[in-house]
Amino acid sequence: MKKHLIMNVNLTISLIITVGFLCMALLNYKTYSHIIDDDIRNISKLTSTNIYSEINNELTKPIFVSLTMANDSFLKNWLKNEAKVSTDRSYLKKLQDYLIGIKSKYHYNSVFMISSSSNYYYHYNGILKTVSEKDKHDKWYYDFVNSNELYDLDVDQDQAAQNTLTVFVNCRVEDTDGSLLAVVGVGVEINQLQSMLKKFEDNFDLEAFLVDPNGLTQIHTDVQKIEKMNIFEQPNLAKFKTKITGNLTSLETSKYKQEKLDGYLITRYVNEMNWFLIIKKDTSILNQSFHLQLIRDLKLMLFILFLLLTLSTYCITRYQRLITNIASTDELTKLPNRRAFNDELYKAIMNYKLYNKQFFVFVFDIDFFKTINDTYGHLFGDRIITDIAVIAKNTINTYGMTARWGGDEFAGIIYGDKKDVQEITDELLNQISSQDSLREYGISISLGVTQIKVNDNIDSILKRADGGLYQAKSEGRNRVIQA
Ligand code: GH3
Ligand code: MG
Repeated sequence: MKKHLIMNVNLTISLIITVGFLCMALLNYKTYSHIIDDDIRNISKLTSTNIYSEINNELTKPIFVSLTMANDSFLKNWLKNEAKVSTDRSYLKKLQDYLIGIKSKYHYNSVFMISSSSNYYYHYNGILKTVSEKDKHDKWYYDFVNSNELYDLDVDQDQAAQNTLTVFVNCRVEDTDGSLLAVVGVGVEINQLQSMLKKFEDNFDLEAFLVDPNGLTQIHTDVQKIEKMNIFEQPNLAKFKTKITGNLTSLETSKYKQEKLDGYLITRYVNEMNWFLIIKKDTSILNQSFHLQLIRDLKLMLFILFLLLTLSTYCITRYQRLITNIASTDELTKLPNRRAFNDELYKAIMNYKLYNKQFFVFVFDIDFFKTINDTYGHLFGDRIITDIAVIAKNTINTYGMTARWGGDEFAGIIYGDKKDVQEITDELLNQISSQDSLREYGISISLGVTQIKVNDNIDSILKRADGGLYQAKSEGRNRVIQA
């Protein structure tokens, strides 16, 4: 019964706290994940805009310089007399100086010109090579010439600089009639762009790179991915191809899910390069940190729950003990009451039946107590009852127990044999009649006592003891009768 109550209370507490905690955690997750998700998206967009403007800074200038070179009358005039190169070394030197001038002024990796009539590839050191359709390294040249574009950008290895990866800006030099004279341009080492992207990647914990309209990576902080990784060939990103490549005017945001990862693709078309700037921001970290937080909170909740359950078990046990105590104690004498006596008697009968443990039951009643009450008042009567209770307790309880049966009647159990019982009950009567506070009022008691018998139950044994009491009263009171 007691354990049942504790279990019920503890279960209810656990349920309320667990449900409350889960609701709170879920609500927090909903609220904060929205806010953080928005934040992440906005930061990614901002990063995209910043990178976009840095790219413009990095690449607009070389485009501008290349276009200026392409319209430079010096170059056009030089090209018209290009044949002089074979006879006049100083004529080649003039071009070299021009190219060196541009290179050192703008700190470009490479400054070059390819003549369409001689196919000579000129750079600051002189003639690097003769371009040929057969050389796969020169494919870009023929592609560009055939594209009829005014300029384009191309990521390639710079054969003039230990094959470092370089973004080449290629520009057409045309005669007044529009015929192609040469292709000029500059090369910007990819490192510069990479370190700019890296700076953003490190600061904002994202992936920033540039792809061509087919999705093929052109500039990436991971060199292994350049010209190798195609984002539109990746599962779950391919579906964004039309959406991303169809938007040439503004930022495009796409939410992706890749296996266990999810995040945003913020994309933007970079007109000058005809490439797309891609910002890939993984947001699965958000879920991971939420799970971590959830586990931390769960541990805390379990700890609090443990404390609460310990406290509630302690309180319930304590109050139950108190209530049981109140229910089984006589208020006036603090002796066990009739209910507690009956419980004890039941246990004693059981022990007798199981282990043959002998015992006696006694019942005693104060003689002429009504008269005491009437003469000295009810409160005085209470004091007499209390005094007798103390004496009975002190005399009997070493051998058994004493209870207040009700009114001026007491009952109890004594473990021992007939002789012991005779001595103990006589001692009780003596103590009462000799106690100063009682003697002057002539207080005495009559007591009936009886031994347990084989077929006894609570009623039968009490009835016999009560018979002894009745006999003691009728034989003149202040005596013990063994019934
Ligand atoms: P007897 O010798 O035959 O027992 O005579 P008696 O006057 O004691 O008669 P009885 O035992 O029948 O009376 C008990 C009285 O005890 C009656 C009642 O007013 C009084 N009494 C019962 N309970 C209390 C109590 O808690 N306090 C006080 N002061 N009196 C009580
Ligand atoms: Mg009485």
